[in-house]
Amino acid sequence: QAKDAGRGTCSWYEPALRERIEHRFTVGEELRHALSKDEFVLYLQPQVDGNGQICSFEALVRWQHPQRGLILPGEFIPVAEENGLIAELGDWVLNHTCLLMAQHPRLHCSVNVSVRQFLHPEFLDRIDSLLRDHEIGASRLTLEVTESLLIADFEQVALKMQSLQQLGVRLSIDDFGTGYSSLVYLKRLPIDELKIDRDFVRDLPGDTSDASLVVLILAMARHLNLSVVAEGVENAEQAEFLRQHGCHYYQGYFYGRPQPIDSWLEVMDHARGVRPAAI
Ligand code: C2E
Ligand code: MG
Ligand code: MG
Ligand code: MG
Repeated sequence: QAKDAGRGTCSWYEPALRERIEHRFTVGEELRHALSKDEFVLYLQPQVDGNGQICSFEALVRWQHPQRGLILPGEFIPVAEENGLIAELGDWVLNHTCLLMAQHPRLHCSVNVSVRQFLHPEFLDRIDSLLRDHEIGASRLTLEVTESLLIADFEQVALKMQSLQQLGVRLSIDDFGTGYSSLVYLKRLPIDELKIDRDFVRDLPGDTSDASLVVLILAMARHLNLSVVAEGVENAEQAEFLRQHGCHYYQGYFYGRPQPIDSWLEVMDHARGVRPAAI
């Protein structure tokens, strides 16, 4: 234990901690640089309906690092969240997704929006002008937020969500089931879609507690008229279980991995768009 090591002695965890802090600092500095150098790239992962037809894509950012190669968001999004660059990075993603949608009139996309970006005073105007400038029908854009947004200032979040709904943008709760536990907000906020976190999908259909949870989420979504996207679908058994219990949309390696835009060019022009679950 660090405490037992006593004053003046070097505790065992220090070098690791220092390395971690220094790594974060370096990544933070590099991120700033990367934004100005435009080192980010969009990958798209398809979302399919019950017939396996692609309806939409989730935009997932990657960092094309000049030395270290392709870096996944798990390594830099948390750093960007901490040092405040997330709003700028998120805006980069939003802007590039809208540019892509402008070029492909049938393309529907989901974009991840972090709490800080959502709460930014100019967020609403930004969405509005992007959609107007590029003449993108608002319902082609879905914003994915996490439950952590809902423990922020509820009234402020609710107002902003209502304004976004008035614009016609769709709102989705990402990683549903892993965060804030009150379900009241599902009724009180203008939410269109839930994404069942892949933690609950991974061990379907064998794991009985995950299975009952998923069944419950699907039943609840049906009653509240929300559409549901299951994340992390990797095999036919998971898909079949989800389908039997009324899931409408699926995303996961079973249907397609996140890939650079170029590899979706053909498919993109046939995307049909995720529609709210019909009752
Ligand atoms: P997420 O929004 O929940 O995105 C789904 C993640 O699951 C993606 O990881 C995707 O590659 C991965 N995934 C999809 N299907 C499967 C599957 O069948 N099996 C497994 N094991 N994984 C699957 P990725 O691209 O590494 O992104 C991780 C997280 O980073 C995202 O989770 C999201 O929270 C965040 N992120 C990505 N892009 C952005 C962005 O532009 N802005 C913000 N704020 N966050 C982003
Ligand atoms: Mg997401
Ligand atoms: Mg997710
Ligand atoms: Mg997830």
